[in-house]
Amino acid sequence: DRITPKRALISVSDKSGVVEFATALANAGVLLVSTGSTAKLIAGAGLDVTEVAEVTGFPETLDGRVKTLHPAVHAGILADLRLESHERQLTELGIAPFDLVVVNLYPFVETVRSGAAANDTVEQIDIGGPAMVRASAKNFANVAIVTNPSQYDEVAASLAEGLTLEQRRGLARDAFTHTAEYDSAVSEWFATGTVADADEASEGESVEGADALLASIGSAQSVASLRYGENSHQQAAVYGLPGGRGIVQATQLHGKEMSYNNYQDADAALRAAFDFAEPAVAIIKHAQPCGIAVAAADADDAIASAHLRAHECDPVSAFGGVIAANRPVTRAMAETVKDIFTEVVIAPGFEEGAVELLQTKKNVRILQLPEGYERESAELRQVSGGVLVQQPDVFDGFSTDSWQLVAGDAVDEATLADLAFAWRAVRSVKSNAILLASGGASVGVGMGQVNRVDSCKLAVERAGSRASGSVAASDAFFPFADGPQILLDAGVRAIVQPGGSVRDEEVVAAARDAGVTMYFTGERHFFH
Ligand code: 5GP
Repeated sequence: DRITPKRALISVSDKSGVVEFATALANAGVLLVSTGSTAKLIAGAGLDVTEVAEVTGFPETLDGRVKTLHPAVHAGILADLRLESHERQLTELGIAPFDLVVVNLYPFVETVRSGAAANDTVEQIDIGGPAMVRASAKNFANVAIVTNPSQYDEVAASLAEGLTLEQRRGLARDAFTHTAEYDSAVSEWFATGTVADADEASEGESVEGADALLASIGSAQSVASLRYGENSHQQAAVYGLPGGRGIVQATQLHGKEMSYNNYQDADAALRAAFDFAEPAVAIIKHAQPCGIAVAAADADDAIASAHLRAHECDPVSAFGGVIAANRPVTRAMAETVKDIFTEVVIAPGFEEGAVELLQTKKNVRILQLPEGYERESAELRQVSGGVLVQQPDVFDGFSTDSWQLVAGDAVDEATLADLAFAWRAVRSVKSNAILLASGGASVGVGMGQVNRVDSCKLAVERAGSRASGSVAASDAFFPFADGPQILLDAGVRAIVQPGGSVRDEEVVAAARDAGVTMYFTGERHFFH
């Protein structure tokens, strides 16, 4: 599926690095075709280059408004050479195909910023460029589209081996992001006469992935209108992002329509279950976990075992819950779930017969995740007048090696594994979060309280007799010793928390006095 470029079309406004790149192409035996000033620059470097006017048999005209808008160019880009008929038609028409297209667009945003007059700004709306970019990206099966000088090195490095389908697909995605951002800026200028500062951030410091995500929101498409929002008097709909591979793109195999709250809860369930590499199940109510458990990958029916133990954490709350598994649902798991009132079951797949078992309940929504499910590379939250953007909390410094033992004795391997599980699971719980765990399963969760003492009380109360001998994780430091004292009194064996409070000494002393082990991780995991 690799393509070794033979004929490239180069037409760039931002000419940085283009001579070096064109030189690499020429050295690899790629024929170069180019437009006006790009061609001049390349020729000036002593490279062989064909003017696009020579290819079209048509001069660049209307002050550059029409340069590459010609069938000799566009048929050359759009031909699908997997089809014999396309190849034959190109030959009949005497058109040679392009397999590499290098285009970046007129500097529209910069022109607006420079305070240019409206007429001059309109001239900077690129027409032929986006047409080539979109045509090439559509035809990624045959063409590699390069829209940013930052991609030159990677493409140049792939010239000998050829560009893989996956590389070309990635380039196509970036290309559509480029044209989408460009068109949003143009439309914004028409609407407001300016282009907002959001782009300034994109040129300066920004959150990785945020610009692409923000741009893609402009092209989000309504996938379905929902019966209502969080409450019956609120209108609602669900929109899908181009290229999204999440809950919105999941395939519903059975059950009632997804509701607004179902989407939120299912997403929270995925966040929790997919945070683990080993088989894991999370059960969610009102966006909060009421049970999370893992099982060893080689355990007998690992996913069923994880589900059972996640359920046992809090069977009262699990009633009407949303269940996510990070492995296919087996028949054994379906057998248990079918007897529990459940709103949604979502998983990457379902073993044969599992769906049949689950759908004995008419209403349960059964959803299969799209292949390659992944969390967005940036998270957005609307606030009045704008959006907050952050990287998702996927920080993976979870090695217990970096933990600091601050009280009691180092624990055995199994207890350490439980602490590590609790520390990872607690970050899917809304702050203030306290999670008690035992044997790779949560046994008591205290969440969403406005002080840590209440979260401790709740976790201990939910755990009941299981609190004694369990381990505890706290998503952030304990500001006082009162919270941990509740855990210690309940018989917790070990506690993991970030540390960093001015009263760490008191907190550590309480653990030490109780003969309980305490570790500091140095990182906190707030989740609001
Ligand atoms: P050059 O600097 O090589 O003369 O022009 C390069 C720029 O022209 C690129 O930004 C490219 O997107 C744009 N372009 C290429 N073909 C056309 C066309 O047919 N019409 C318009 N308006 N722009 C074009």
